[in-house]
Amino acid sequence: MASAAPRRLESYVYGAWTAGKGDGLPLLDAGTGETVALIDSKGLDFAEVLHYGRTVAGPKLRAMSFHERAAMLKALGLALMEKKEEFYAESFRTGATRADGWVDIEGGIGTMLTFASKGRRELPNTRILTDGNVEPLSKDNSFSAQHIYAPLQGVAVHINAFNFPIWGMLEKISPTLLAGVPAVVKPASQTAYLTELMVRRIIETGLLPEGALQLISGSVGDLLDHVTGQDVVTFTGSAWTGRKLKAHPAVIANSVRFTMEADSLNASILGPDATPGTPEFDLFVKEVAREMTVKAGQKCTAIRRVIAPRDHVDALVKALGDMLGKTALGLPDDETTRMGPLASLHQRTEVRERIQDLLSDAEIVAGNPDNVRVASGDAERGAFLNPILLYADDPFGAFKIHDVEAFGPVSTVLPYDSIEEAVELARLGKGSLVSSVFTDDPKVAEEVVIGVAPFHGRVLVGNRRSAKTSTGHGSPLAGLVHGGPGRAGGGEEMGGMRGVKHYMQRTAVQGTPRLLSAVTGRWIEGADVQHGEHPFRKSLAELKIGDQLMTAKRQVTLDDVEHFAHFTGDTFYAHMDEAAAKANPFFDDRVAHGYLIASFAAGLFVEPNPGPVLANYGVDNMRFLTPVYFGDTVQVRLTCKEINPRENANHGEVRWDCQVTNQKGEIVAQYDVLTMVAKIWPPAQTQEAAE
Ligand code: NDP
Repeated sequence: MASAAPRRLESYVYGAWTAGKGDGLPLLDAGTGETVALIDSKGLDFAEVLHYGRTVAGPKLRAMSFHERAAMLKALGLALMEKKEEFYAESFRTGATRADGWVDIEGGIGTMLTFASKGRRELPNTRILTDGNVEPLSKDNSFSAQHIYAPLQGVAVHINAFNFPIWGMLEKISPTLLAGVPAVVKPASQTAYLTELMVRRIIETGLLPEGALQLISGSVGDLLDHVTGQDVVTFTGSAWTGRKLKAHPAVIANSVRFTMEADSLNASILGPDATPGTPEFDLFVKEVAREMTVKAGQKCTAIRRVIAPRDHVDALVKALGDMLGKTALGLPDDETTRMGPLASLHQRTEVRERIQDLLSDAEIVAGNPDNVRVASGDAERGAFLNPILLYADDPFGAFKIHDVEAFGPVSTVLPYDSIEEAVELARLGKGSLVSSVFTDDPKVAEEVVIGVAPFHGRVLVGNRRSAKTSTGHGSPLAGLVHGGPGRAGGGEEMGGMRGVKHYMQRTAVQGTPRLLSAVTGRWIEGADVQHGEHPFRKSLAELKIGDQLMTAKRQVTLDDVEHFAHFTGDTFYAHMDEAAAKANPFFDDRVAHGYLIASFAAGLFVEPNPGPVLANYGVDNMRFLTPVYFGDTVQVRLTCKEINPRENANHGEVRWDCQVTNQKGEIVAQYDVLTMVAKIWPPAQTQEAAE
């Protein structure tokens, strides 16, 4: 770590890199104590930051479709990944080892790439989302309702913690930008130099519309005074600050969405079956030791409370003590280092004080907070602290253990005498981000998960079978909910596409189907239809929502059913045995197979010649609603319901409403047919267009 003159961090606001007007607060290297950078944001116009995001970037982002925004995130993620070594070099200064940095840097960029890919696969290529089914509100289909999600027209202000300067930003801005909302990021000062570096690289790519990402290096000043009901504020950090910001008058007065992720006294339970010598016992020991030492225990998801059967506590403490004792503490860029320093000397003082609090209810069984042993680096100038394991013999009387978060390599072992007690102890954390149980017993898994789930945002069940594939207790994943109730802040982040909706407003829209269809870009029952050329002859360039085909009719006969039954092997009695079918409460006689009807429907609606429809890739929501008896006649109405051209491809997905009726007009079957359709047909033109 060569020492250079500290750089002055800048904010990226209203279209320019801007230095604060103050002297700048020095930020120190966690391992050496050298000054890395100076930070301050004095003189920024925070109201203008919000206004700029809302007015300059908001309209540009909202003009893009989900797929365009997903493609933007993908390009950005790939560009950042190419520069990862630069981020690793800076990350060492935060106290993160290479392995810690991986979680922050590649974990963060990976989260962005996951949002990009899920966005393209799971969201339509539109600018708003529909939510749930159409609610018919009149018998004649003249008045219906559809819930939609539209992007908020404000900005998302993300106030982040010091422990994940990159992941903390990327896991929040990815769903924000995918939703079509600009972001303002305020990293924690202590490690803001790493966030600032990445924001510089992001802005340099030119991939984001101007104003889509702004950065405040330093205090946010009076920014919160200016938030409105269209803005979102998210916060990760201490419960004290979080509560203060949540109670900010403008947040309350304007009902601003406030997502908080604060203290979390996460628990991990060793199942009663996981006795010493079992794979689950060994996995548990490794997991607890890993959670205590990764990022020097400065993880919001780290295991703080280790809940174990009383009979196995001695063996567990011994195994954990041995493993933790071997953890080489040292400079983050030293390859032999297994655990780096805390983020700052201030943080070390803070953790030592919290250990003192915990000592009123527990004793130290491994490590010594006052005697630091380092393999490299200076034990006093760097914020080093060896892992500390505590034990509380009276876990229900150990109030501090369930109340105080020592944000470092610190955990407490708590004994239990029954699985009910184990669950109760986990709940005493009053709401946490994550909990885990290590067991190979399905009953234990069931009892623990059902018992603790209402108190947690995520629960991991670990055992021998998933040992190699498990992502671990402490890893929040882009596709899974991250957040917890109660003391953990009551917030929810990520969770795949659920997280995108946190930046959108859900609205029930009522009206006549034709106009609802115009709003959502989706055909709904009662909306306009067009008849003409067979819609399977139309490429995406020609196809319109509402293009409809009424097919010929086909009678279903006894021979058809017999043939289908013996051909496929589906000789279920309701199709084959008259007496048994009549005894069935749902049927009056032998009935045709539902799948036969679906097959006949396909036979009626397909256009057999080579054409723009490239493939049928499935059906959604298939329901057989009225039995078809021999002699009944079926007919299909196929309507183009949704068109999703794919970015960077020559085709797109088309969803068709498929309704099969009988001679009485009753709906026999209803489902969506999913097809891939060429953008241009014939393919020669596609080729020319591509050129
Ligand atoms: P803080 O709550 O002090 O800071 C979190 C974020 O809030 C930082 O970006 C900070 O900025 C900002 N902030 C602080 N005051 C204000 C304010 N008045 N207005 C707007 N923003 C503000 O937490 P720390 O990062 O200092 O960590 C303190 C403790 O919090 C840790 O020791 C740990 O116990 C806990 N913590 C818990 C986490 C969890 O997820 N469970 C994560 C991180 C911390 P700035 O840095 O510039 O002050």
